[in-house]
Amino acid sequence: MSSPPAVDGSRDPIFACSGEMAERCARFDWASTPLGEPSTWPASMRAVVGMVLRSRFPMTVTWGDEFVMVYNDGYIPTLGAKHPGALGSSLPHQFAEIWDEIGPRQRAVLAGGESESDEDVPFVLERGSGPEETFYTFCWSHVSLDGQAPGPGGVLTVLTERTGEVVGARRLALLNALAMRTAESTDPDEALERTMHVLAEAGDDLVHGSYYSAGATGRLTRGPGFDTTTRDDSEQARDGARRLVETCWTTGEMTEERWDSGYGVALPVRASGRRVGVLFLGLHPLRPLDGAHRQWLGLVGDQVSQVVGTAASRADEQARVEALAQLDAAKSEFLSTVSHELRTPLTLLLGPLDDALADAEPTLSSVQVASMHQSAHRLLRLVNGLLDAAQRDVEPRPARIEPVAVSALTRDLVLPFEVAALRGGLTLTTTVDEVGVLSLDAARWESIVINLTANAVKYTPSGWVEVELDADGEHLRFVVRDSGIGISQADQSRIFDRFQRIETDTSVSVEGTGLGLAVVAESVRALGGTIEVDSAPGEGSVFTVRLPRLVAAPSEETEQRSTIAAEVLARDVTAPDAGEGSAEAMPDDGRPRVLVVDDNEGIRGRVAGVLADLGSTVTARDGIEALEILTDLQVDLVVTDMTMPRLNGLGLISRLRADPQHSGVPVIALSARAGTDAATSALAAGADDYVTKPFTSEELLARCRSTLELTRLRTEHAATAARAAMLAEFSHDLQTPMSVVMSALEMLSLPGVDDDARADAVVRARDRMVVLDRLVRQFLDGSRIAAGLPLLAVTASVDLHDLVRRALLDQRGVVVDPEESGPVRVLCDPRRTEQILRTLAVRARDGGDGPVGVRWTTSAPGADGVDVEVYAAGSRQPSQAPAQHNDLDLLVSGAAAAAQGGTLSLGSTPQHDTRFVLRLTEAD
Ligand code: ADP
Repeated sequence: MSSPPAVDGSRDPIFACSGEMAERCARFDWASTPLGEPSTWPASMRAVVGMVLRSRFPMTVTWGDEFVMVYNDGYIPTLGAKHPGALGSSLPHQFAEIWDEIGPRQRAVLAGGESESDEDVPFVLERGSGPEETFYTFCWSHVSLDGQAPGPGGVLTVLTERTGEVVGARRLALLNALAMRTAESTDPDEALERTMHVLAEAGDDLVHGSYYSAGATGRLTRGPGFDTTTRDDSEQARDGARRLVETCWTTGEMTEERWDSGYGVALPVRASGRRVGVLFLGLHPLRPLDGAHRQWLGLVGDQVSQVVGTAASRADEQARVEALAQLDAAKSEFLSTVSHELRTPLTLLLGPLDDALADAEPTLSSVQVASMHQSAHRLLRLVNGLLDAAQRDVEPRPARIEPVAVSALTRDLVLPFEVAALRGGLTLTTTVDEVGVLSLDAARWESIVINLTANAVKYTPSGWVEVELDADGEHLRFVVRDSGIGISQADQSRIFDRFQRIETDTSVSVEGTGLGLAVVAESVRALGGTIEVDSAPGEGSVFTVRLPRLVAAPSEETEQRSTIAAEVLARDVTAPDAGEGSAEAMPDDGRPRVLVVDDNEGIRGRVAGVLADLGSTVTARDGIEALEILTDLQVDLVVTDMTMPRLNGLGLISRLRADPQHSGVPVIALSARAGTDAATSALAAGADDYVTKPFTSEELLARCRSTLELTRLRTEHAATAARAAMLAEFSHDLQTPMSVVMSALEMLSLPGVDDDARADAVVRARDRMVVLDRLVRQFLDGSRIAAGLPLLAVTASVDLHDLVRRALLDQRGVVVDPEESGPVRVLCDPRRTEQILRTLAVRARDGGDGPVGVRWTTSAPGADGVDVEVYAAGSRQPSQAPAQHNDLDLLVSGAAAAAQGGTLSLGSTPQHDTRFVLRLTEAD
């Protein structure tokens, strides 16, 4: 608008003010209108016109029956292209498009009726760019004729245009609705459907729309859409829409086009920064495409991008969570099964050892040793299976159908039970027919034979057990009969479910997990067979397994599998010499690379030979040569001797740990059996593990494998790695005592070993078996917790002092504080409590940096609790409540405390920064 012209003093006083309209009015030919010259206008009209022209608020006054218009500057935008032609013209003519709506009310006001006012009223106005949706708040007032001239008087209109506010609020509401109503979507398709529903409700702004998604190849496919009209698209619009969408997809920019039917707009849709599709929208023809409109459409595009992106990442996340949950469920099921399986051979191993130890001069018969071998080998197979699973990070291994000499294998498997039955005063008869070499999954067969036989022995307090294997043409039949406690008809249906035990008076004292028969059922199913039970309480039970008999051709592997002795004897390997001292010989075949460092040529060769099973090996004669090789070769594992010329093992380990390029490489130290100090200092220097000489090939291989495995796990994705590592560590923990047991047994089976050495081997094996047993129980408890089941506890009244002493016997440096800890008897499960105390002592020692103390106090008189504190000064790790601790042992300890009615808490005091409190019940 031009600047207001100066006011001319000769004008009619009513026009003597500033402003475009005052100027126009002053010059206007009023005589050509029904109003005549302004000097003849009624006084009231003159007064109102003077006021209107001076007002800064949009106003118009219309006069007489013909509604002749006089308006001010503020009213010009409402007229748009009708200005300035509207001055002195009639309102019904100028606003013909809405006169039907407003005419009657205007006439009523003109006739002297009440004022009319309204807010945010929609009018479709024609202001020069086609019909347009507008909103006004207005007030119409009657202006009366003052008697100077006859006539109907006038109508004063005061108004404010509200289009911006009303449309703005509506658009904002749509953006909100988009965000709210799509917020929950976890499925991108569903999110888009919902988006289209919301957009369809914005019929005043958008008349139709479609989403085009880009496939993997970038090809656009039309997805969900909406249409609020019953339009029939013109060809122009259809072609235009296609063109717009394509242009938008190529340029990544908002693209628009105007057709006869209105505007079309295409908006790019992005998720995670990538273009994933195009949203096409047909705009309402009454809404001009101005700056605010474009800005809003941009926001709609952003919001849809957000919806699609969030739903896609939610879907990903959900899929991940589901996969993890499945993995977890599968894994804990697998873990509990394996832990259960570990227990049977362990028990079978412990029995004869216990017997032998009870003698003044412990010895074992050859049958006992053979039976123990069998159990120990089964244990080893199970542990290796665990490692395997950790490696693959999935649950059960796939079926491995191989030729199996079933009769020999079955005899081997039952042998340890014959020894155990003998000890328990049971008669166990085995009748195994020769059934031939069959195609079978041997591990599955083992679990069937072992679990059924173990149960028969377990649930037969006295009497007999019969194990039978025979075959007719097509079937293999395995029957285990016992004269034991039997199973009621009602219970027979549930004994094959996981964790289902029958707690009768007789069976409650028998330890079990409720997994054995579930494992059997699963194996029978996997082998395509059936299992039946026939039993009555007090009369014993008969379990019959029938499997299809698939005859296989015998192979070398079968023969090896069936004879334990062959396995034991085939252990020592004569090693081929691998790539001595040079990096060139290393193939890059994706297998682990192992550097073997030893100054003794024989050992170097043997180690390299054994490890050739594991990966490619390179050897060095001492630390210096090893470092030279490592300057241009990255290896996955270093196996090093400790005593060597030039640079010894310790020196090598320290240099590796200080070198950023090799600081992460795992190192296994080879140390002499005599010098445990060497092993300790190797670990202190940063070795990951050590193997004492002499070692069996199997032991070395297992250690290297688990070390490599742990290293690999450490570098893998954290969440999965944590679980897998737990498994690997568990099997690794099992391996150390296992290897001691194995070497003791190996020694026992050799001729010419003197009695002292035999006795010593039995003691060593027994000690380690106890450790193994403890580990497996702990792990099994962990599995029960993972399966959401409470732990079981058998409580008795025991002297706390005795219990603490027994528990901490082998924990060096733990001090029992006798002053404060008086004699007291507690009601607890002694085995579990001992285990909890051992765990806490280790934790306190690791957590604090002072000596570990134990003391107990009875709680306030009247209460019956005894608080056993395990504490250490100083604190190395931030304290965490045991219940939230991830570690299996603390988790199990917490649950074990709860199982016997106690609690376990972690507190800290100024003096004792690491302090666990185990609350037990005082016995009467
Ligand atoms: P558990 O570890 O408890 O032995 P199983 O799954 O092997 O778990 O067996 C489930 C239940 O079936 C046992 O708790 C026991 O009550 C019953 N059972 C299994 N075998 C026999 C048997 N030979 N005689 C009597 N009861 C048995």
